[in-house]
Amino acid sequence: MSDSQPHGDATPPTDTDCTVQSPPPKTDGALLVASSVEVAYNEVEILQDVSLSIEAGAVTALIGPNGSGKTTLLRSLAGLNRQVVGNITYHGPESHRRIGYLPQQPAFRPGFTVLETLQFYCSLVGSGTEDATERLDHVGLGDAADRAVEALSGGMTRLVGIAQATIGDPPLIILDEPASGLDPGMSGHVFDVAAELAAGGTGVLLSSHDLELVERTADHIIVLDDGTVQARGPPAALVDRADADSLRDVYEVSTVGDERRVRVRGETS
Ligand code: ADP
Repeated sequence: MSDSQPHGDATPPTDTDCTVQSPPPKTDGALLVASSVEVAYNEVEILQDVSLSIEAGAVTALIGPNGSGKTTLLRSLAGLNRQVVGNITYHGPESHRRIGYLPQQPAFRPGFTVLETLQFYCSLVGSGTEDATERLDHVGLGDAADRAVEALSGGMTRLVGIAQATIGDPPLIILDEPASGLDPGMSGHVFDVAAELAAGGTGVLLSSHDLELVERTADHIIVLDDGTVQARGPPAALVDRADADSLRDVYEVSTVGDERRVRVRGETS
């Protein structure tokens, strides 16, 4: 089923939208297509001419240094940023919920348990306790069902956020740093969950600094730096094209600046 829903207000994508060292994104079978996206805050350009498409049944990973614009891009694609110029169009199937979103810093209303919190979100899409419980188990949080959300660690809060993002089985799930603050075992588990969702047909777009997990899991990678797409493609193709040994090498040649300093847009030259 094709349901093109404007998400921004500019023109449809064309083959010439892409300015990076790789082929432009295909639009066949895409869930979401972004074309020439620009975002500026207080006249400082944060995203410039970003074009991409997110496919169903695949994990797309967005990588790049702190401050490169990943969260701004993910929020824009999720329809949460009113400052977007350009065109973002949803092409996926109609659903109670088109896009599930995990923010970088998930927060839940205090005074409720984990299960009550998920039950609330399930009720919004017409499902109940069984669904909430299954989603908690799926992210490995079954034992925390009766714990108050304000008593969770940062990593556990993120897992609740991941469970919340899957409720209603949205065709596209956007996860902003889902593995941040998690131990290596849980980080691996979260990437496995992302891969399982994709194997079931969901489009998953996530950001991460864990390049090994990204290289192992992602079907497509987008390297963002300074608000522009620097490279994109399947992990093996990116590594081959750069004549590199690993995704870390690709990352290093695709991003500029001192790795030990955060580039602050509008401040760092
Ligand atoms: P990343 O997720 O890659 O770390 P962000 O998208 O969070 O990057 O931020 C990119 C740049 O945009 C940073 O320089 C940040 O300070 C700036 N920025 C993000 N949100 C805002 C905002 N609401 N107002 C002004 N500047 C912002």
